[in-house]
Amino acid sequence: MKLMHCTQCNDVVSLLREERRCRCGKAWGHYLSDDRVVEYGGPCRIIGIRDREFLTALPGEDHIWFVIPELHNIRRVDNAAGRTKKS
Ligand SMILES: [Zn+2]
Repeated sequence: MKLMHCTQCNDVVSLLREERRCRCGKAWGHYLSDDRVVEYGGPCRIIGIRDREFLTALPGEDHIWFVIPELHNIRRVDNAAGRTKKS
């Protein structure tokens, strides 16, 4: 499971195939059709939670989450002009 954390408004958004934005609208992200690769942009970082741990977590248990570095399946795609909102 991948979450997008906007460093401007502190909103955390679960990523889906359709593009999602944070509350302030400056950060965005989505899964590509393979459900593995994420494209994102704006002032944010992508957070990972291991799917198996997330699905089986019990109340009171501690689990690991991590900030995912930019790798082959995490693509920052904003440019100097930034990305405009879809209309
Ligand atoms: Zn934001």
